[in-house]
Amino acid sequence: MDRLLSGRVALVTGSTSGIGLGIAHSLAKAGANIVMNGFGDADAVEAIRQDIISRYQVDCLYSSADLSHPQAVAEMIESAQSHFGGVDVLVNNAGIQHVAPIEDFPIEKWDAILAINLSSAFHAMRLVIPGMKAKKWGRIINIASAHALVASPFKSAYVAAKHGIAGLTKTAALELAEHGITVNAICPGYVMTPLVKNQIPDQAKARGISEEAVIRDVLLAAQSTKRFVEIDELAALALFLCSTEACSMTGTLLPVDGGWTAH
Ligand code: NAD
Repeated sequence: MDRLLSGRVALVTGSTSGIGLGIAHSLAKAGANIVMNGFGDADAVEAIRQDIISRYQVDCLYSSADLSHPQAVAEMIESAQSHFGGVDVLVNNAGIQHVAPIEDFPIEKWDAILAINLSSAFHAMRLVIPGMKAKKWGRIINIASAHALVASPFKSAYVAAKHGIAGLTKTAALELAEHGITVNAICPGYVMTPLVKNQIPDQAKARGISEEAVIRDVLLAAQSTKRFVEIDELAALALFLCSTEACSMTGTLLPVDGGWTAH
């Protein structure tokens, strides 16, 4: 049976964990061959790769590229192109976080967050766009954040990078609109992944409150549903953006945030 993405190739950055892994599963289930990327224990990564291959009968390539280096992004795209002949769906998802007041924010953390959360998306996009243009079809999905739309204290680099990717999304959408290529950003509220779990102790320290209070009074304070967003909800939206029915959706910043940015 033909599936929505049969014969397509989807590269999902940061797909060894969390939201990216969920999106890789949903695109593979729809028939796409997958290029996985991200860090992790070699055996654990290989187990994920084999699981995707056997569960969905697709091919799956793994790239361990460290996206903080433009050269590594280029090598990842090159290996995807030489293995699969091209990339049809690019999901820029890899991201890191650091929480500290601006005056204490480590310079190397600022540089790393901008490189991974923003610049790597530019480098991947500039390298896949020629192939998408040649095929007159492509989907670029940037996993931004509610922090692409609103700010929170102590997250200067993250908020700057996510607002940056919102601008990059809109610019690319305009450039590519007549080429059958859509570019959109998904803006999740809080999802309980390692990225969020790891920041709870830092938030507690920066604010001088308990970890329970961070979850209740900081993370879920503005999220009106008072629950974390589920990875499957984001994976379903990413899949929809790949469909033919979504061909007029481009340049959008789509909040999936339990009402957070409706305030
Ligand atoms: P996660 O920590 O579970 O996953 C991050 C992934 O990025 C991992 O696969 C990791 O190995 C990879 N990664 C990190 N640094 C990398 C590098 N230098 N090179 C290559 N890969 C690298 O986090 P997550 O919560 O799933 O986050 C995924 C995306 O969703 C991020 O862009 C994040 O900003 C965004 N987001 C997350 C939330 C949330 O609440 N979890 C909310 C809004 C947006």
